[in-house]
Amino acid sequence: MTAPLASAQRLRTCRACGKKFEYPVKGNAATRHHCADCAVIAEDTRKVLERLHTRVTQLERQWQRLQEKPTPPVGA
Ligand SMILES: [Zn+2]
Repeated sequence: MTAPLASAQRLRTCRACGKKFEYPVKGNAATRHHCADCAVIAEDTRKVLERLHTRVTQLERQWQRLQEKPTPPVGA
């Protein structure tokens, strides 16, 4: 299932909040790596958001891995 996007537009994931957004969109503040919401945030604040988002992504991946595999027996 491919979304009918204009060929010049690409669906990107925001580095700071993880939101999917289209880029470039005319008149939109979004940049290559940040959605319109995060593009207007002060850079140092956005850096913190990026760090937190990376952490959340890691934790989600870890959590998914834990759900797939049964936990190994403790001790024994
Ligand atoms: Zn964002």
